[in-house]
Amino acid sequence: MKKLIYGNLKMNFNLKDMENYCELFLKKVEQSKNEIAIFPSFTNLMFTKQKLTASKVLLGAQNLSSEVSGAYTGEISADMLKSVGAELVIVGHSERRKLFLEKNETINKKIKQALSQGLKVVLCVGETKYERQNRKYKMALEKIISETLKGLYENELKNIIIAYEPIWAIGTGVLPTVKEIEEAANIIRNQVSVEFTSQAAKNLKLLYGGSVNTQNCKQFLGANGINGLLVGGASLKADEFAKICNS
Ligand code: PEP
Repeated sequence: MKKLIYGNLKMNFNLKDMENYCELFLKKVEQSKNEIAIFPSFTNLMFTKQKLTASKVLLGAQNLSSEVSGAYTGEISADMLKSVGAELVIVGHSERRKLFLEKNETINKKIKQALSQGLKVVLCVGETKYERQNRKYKMALEKIISETLKGLYENELKNIIIAYEPIWAIGTGVLPTVKEIEEAANIIRNQVSVEFTSQAAKNLKLLYGGSVNTQNCKQFLGANGINGLLVGGASLKADEFAKICNS
């Protein structure tokens, strides 16, 4: 079955680096049966879109504004992303929560902005190390789902992909077990069925993200209820990421 393999390039690559990356990476994933997307920085979006014209690889952005337009210096709107060819956007990444103090309410507004412009959303959800160690992760995940998806219509959920990214596993090399991922996937789907319907929960596409690499990707792709991967660090190496995409 086709898996979704998405690469979050974070704040890496100037234009030249991006060109080199595209040259190497796109050739290697030409034959892949999976749905692949790359999420470069804003400044590389237009250029990357041109590189992707002959490819099935999708283009996504890493963030967007919660506002439509106007006096918000330094912000990038959903409309702007759409106009340069982005198809997806990551919302609610834990780095944005931690370093830029984004709250569920803002994330909810960002999701609505993205959907209004026809962008698909990759919503990141995950518990902290403290919440995991103190068995508060169920409550934490339920709260994020409930508050970030507030006020959405069930039919909008088809344009939302949820990435389960335990914060303690991002960039740390510390991995959850497959059982822990499956349990989290169940918690997320259950909460979606509470907020919407069991059909919506069943149809939901769920990714796992956190220290994925070529060695461990297969075990995560095999987890029940997981439809793909969101890859950070390992997506920066065209070779390594291509191997994950082809798995
Ligand atoms: C991420 O930041 O979304 C991520 C999954 O990072 P890494 O793969 O580096 O842990």
